[in-house]
Amino acid sequence: MSRKFVLSGAAALAVAAAPLIAAPATAAPAHADQTAAVTTVYYSTSGAPSFRDEINAGAANWNNAVSNVKLVERSSGASLTYVEGNDPRGSYAQSDGHGNGTVFIDYTQAQEYYTIRITAHETGHVLGLPDHYEGPCSELMSGGGPGPSCTNANPDSQESAQVEQLWANGFRAAGPQQRIYEEIPAGIH
Ligand SMILES: [Zn+2]
Repeated sequence: MSRKFVLSGAAALAVAAAPLIAAPATAAPAHADQTAAVTTVYYSTSGAPSFRDEINAGAANWNNAVSNVKLVERSSGASLTYVEGNDPRGSYAQSDGHGNGTVFIDYTQAQEYYTIRITAHETGHVLGLPDHYEGPCSELMSGGGPGPSCTNANPDSQESAQVEQLWANGFRAAGPQQRIYEEIPAGIH
């Protein structure tokens, strides 16, 4: 059923976004940045009620950092769904990296690590960023790499710039989804 919502939502967005995307192509290239379409990704927290505040805080951090894509909570018709539970492999993002998919928040990891950092990090995957566990705490996509004491839940300027670039051309049809588990490799932290 939720699958159907995703597809119908995506189709509706495609229709709405098409004229906005088409416009810059015929305009002078110098104005491309100013006319770029903002894409809205609707997300649902109903499957992760314990973490709703943290999910919204993580989404707000992204909304403050980037302008080509906006995350908006909505109870139906969402392309991104947050769920919670127990998984021995930890939290994950299953996504096409362009706003479609599922974020799973593992209870055990949520107790060990700063939860807003987890939700913002997983959202980073849904926005197209890969893991970079070797990075410092100032990077969001270093995830659990810097250890549980790291409470930074904001992307750094490089990560924000990367997401801006990935979303510069706005909406695109849902692609194949990949599941990225938060398994911290041995030897890191
Ligand atoms: Zn990750």
